[in-house]
Amino acid sequence: MKAEEVLNDLRRRFPNEPEYLQAVEEVLSTIEEAYNANPEFERYNLIERLCIPDRIYTFRVSWIDDNGRVRNNMGYRVQHNNAIGPYKGGIRFHSSVNLSILKFLAFEQTFKNSLTTLPMGGAKGGSDFSPRGKSDMEVMKFCQAFVQELWRHIGPDTDVPAGDIGVGGREVGYMYGMYKKMARENTGTFTGKGLEFGGSLIRPEATGFGNVYFLLNMLETRGISLEGKRVAISGSGNVATYTALKLLELGAKVVSLSDSDGTVLIPDGITRDQLDYVFKLKNFYRGRIREFAEEYNLPYHAGERPWHLIDCDIAMPSATQNEIDGDDARALLKGGCIAVSEGANMPSTPEAIREFINAGILYAPGKAANAGGVSVSGLEMSQNSQKLSWSAAEVDAKLKDIMAEIHHQCVLYGRDEQTGYINYVKGANVAGFIKVARAMMAQGIL
Ligand code: NDP
Repeated sequence: MKAEEVLNDLRRRFPNEPEYLQAVEEVLSTIEEAYNANPEFERYNLIERLCIPDRIYTFRVSWIDDNGRVRNNMGYRVQHNNAIGPYKGGIRFHSSVNLSILKFLAFEQTFKNSLTTLPMGGAKGGSDFSPRGKSDMEVMKFCQAFVQELWRHIGPDTDVPAGDIGVGGREVGYMYGMYKKMARENTGTFTGKGLEFGGSLIRPEATGFGNVYFLLNMLETRGISLEGKRVAISGSGNVATYTALKLLELGAKVVSLSDSDGTVLIPDGITRDQLDYVFKLKNFYRGRIREFAEEYNLPYHAGERPWHLIDCDIAMPSATQNEIDGDDARALLKGGCIAVSEGANMPSTPEAIREFINAGILYAPGKAANAGGVSVSGLEMSQNSQKLSWSAAEVDAKLKDIMAEIHHQCVLYGRDEQTGYINYVKGANVAGFIKVARAMMAQGIL
């Protein structure tokens, strides 16, 4: 396989899908050697079968808003690969959602899920519906309409969706309710459910906590302590807030948060009371991070991302794709940043990744660092199958073990023999790839 040839072919066939092509390019450039070491893969044209999703469902979602107007959105489910287990991946509701973004997310998810050590394939779904500014009733009506179409393609052993941007506990609850009604079964199927109906303790916290656990593993390779470190976070949703909570617990200082309107700086580090305010603001009042800045008289920068606004030791991007570009990366390095651990999926552009790796800092791609979320989703599936629930301490301990194992795999496949530098991008891609590739080979051409 020549990565460039495969890519050129995909560029020709999917010219309007830049995020998908970006994600594929990042993986292919790092697995070429491992792929070519096994000539069987090429004979089975494994690479093309791994890059192109198994199938994609596209549908119209019609619903009625509070003013009685009929609204139409697009709905999608990309089932990318189920070689190692049922399709598994979140649902994103955001006005920017399109097929390119969902295809990149489903592709990434396949490698991420492989890394978790649990039997889950890769998928992603969503809609260009935005919950922002909608009433609870409108969100419920949309979720119900979305699932009335989606339900026939998912199930506990076929495809298990979860949350992502714009889809939290509220949306999962509404979707799961309608799913149960349509499918006439009660076996789980969605993860991220409420605790009263099959959800797992620690699932809301899992992506943020898992990212901090991964960061601790990385810092340990250089004998660096997290205590007192200044950490810049972007976003103020599920991943960002639980990352901040765990960092606070461990004695680090969180110096920024953001949303799609702007960034708040917290030069002395966020306090527990301030973070509680953000949790309430975001989850109950569905307010903006600007309101948090106003409440505590903190500097707020409209329309800006955190990276060039404040010096930090560590960056944990937790909002969206391509939110750190080459200039942002250079600003972070200039400000003394020694580690980047990605809560979001593909938040760094290829140029930014090159800057981090060339500078020799610790850099963890999302597919490794944010895999805690889907890992605990996998644990939620296990609990649902066994019809029992584990304690928070049990789930947290399993999450820590999984993140340590993912880190171990990254080191195994990513450490440079000569320099000792751990390239976590290569490590995560190769480790994720090998497992899926072997499973695909064993199951024949499908
Ligand atoms: P939420 O919807 O809870 O929060 C998203 C946050 O990012 C919000 O603050 C939002 O601001 C901001 N944001 C979204 N889009 C943009 C944008 N285009 N530009 C700037 N800011 C933006 O989502 P999550 O916290 O769940 O997800 C955050 C990231 O983590 C995503 O990349 C997701 O794929 C990834 N992830 C999530 C997992 C999970 O378990 N939830 C698991 C693994 C990865 P606003 O409110 O203004 O839109």
